[in-house]
Amino acid sequence: MRILVTGGAGFIGSALIRHLIETTAYEVLNLDKLTYAGNLESLSSIATNTRYEFVQADIADRATVDAVLARFAPHAIMHLAAESHVDRSIDGPAAFIETNIVGTYNLLEAARGYWAKLPAAEREAFRFHHISTDEVYGDLHGVDDLFTETTPYAPSSPYSASKAASDHLVRAWHRTYGLPVLLSNCSNNYGPFQFPEKLIPLTILNALAGKPLPVYGNGLQVRDWLFVEDHARALLRVLCDGQVGETYNIGGHNEQKNIDVVRSICALLEELAPNHPTGVNHYADLISFVQDRPGHDQRYAIDASKIQRELGWTPAETFQSGLRKTVQWYLDNPEWCQHIQDGSYQGQRLGNSDFKDLIA
Ligand code: NAD
Repeated sequence: MRILVTGGAGFIGSALIRHLIETTAYEVLNLDKLTYAGNLESLSSIATNTRYEFVQADIADRATVDAVLARFAPHAIMHLAAESHVDRSIDGPAAFIETNIVGTYNLLEAARGYWAKLPAAEREAFRFHHISTDEVYGDLHGVDDLFTETTPYAPSSPYSASKAASDHLVRAWHRTYGLPVLLSNCSNNYGPFQFPEKLIPLTILNALAGKPLPVYGNGLQVRDWLFVEDHARALLRVLCDGQVGETYNIGGHNEQKNIDVVRSICALLEELAPNHPTGVNHYADLISFVQDRPGHDQRYAIDASKIQRELGWTPAETFQSGLRKTVQWYLDNPEWCQHIQDGSYQGQRLGNSDFKDLIA
């Protein structure tokens, strides 16, 4: 099997590629634009493997995508490339429309052209797996409600609206043109190699630096957390065994309030990094409530019973075990974090970067 992964230098894409190279005999081509979120250092453990190849390209660049498809001749595309950070989508939605909607449209058209010319047996076996988010469903208000695969779409942010649009395009390309698609919608991921603008790595790195730990609003927003390596396993399961045209919700059954996530990280750091930064007695003293995000969703929670029932997938990590591994990973890998903080992961210093502010 040859698999084209888009967005493979990102957080989930790199976990997926490490998983594919380490646990299968597949060949993997990683097509990634290397935006601020793309980091090839996350793939250093498999970068020299002969079954792995990297192409720096934009999914919206049709000529390059066509050329890559013609040369690599994939049996499947796993599409993860996206702008993924809600706060950035509020500050500047244009890139989200360009990549998540126009880019996905472009990739679908390129895939359709490539797929239509395949011999019948290969055409039948081809898969376009679109990786999406539970945020397309909006938020939940009842304490026991869960998102299922039939929950109506009600996205709240420019990010989730752009992902919702891409999901609709993928379904339409199946219904109208017969492209053999699979969709999966996953809850919040966490784990090693996550860019430090997201809640969990931001909290860990700020705490270690003795900086404030920002928590939006009252911190009572609930998210359903999944360890990224469990997501990678689920994606491979969906690709291999999923029914064409179907959607699979993927979640960890790990609902946590944001404030509790931050407190859990502080408690783990007390144990794993007991030498506090100067002037700090307890990591939790650094918690600082900040103005809430506009349109902030209150609660997400996934009903993952379909993927469990039909494909036999369940997460291996609990939130406690996955969070401990994550905190330990950030403690063990200061260079990876340092290269993001100083911009050298992109081979240059980031002139207009706000990462330093984010981590400040
Ligand atoms: P990420 O931001 O860490 O990585 C995105 C990757 O896509 C980066 O490597 C970036 O360089 C690349 N990219 C961006 N624009 C591109 C373009 N135009 N052409 C080619 N490459 C481009 O994102 P992530 O957290 O790894 O998320 C991956 C996918 O999973 C996204 O589609 C996201 O919507 C979805 N998802 C994420 C989560 C989560 O909690 N992180 C949860 C559910 C679903």
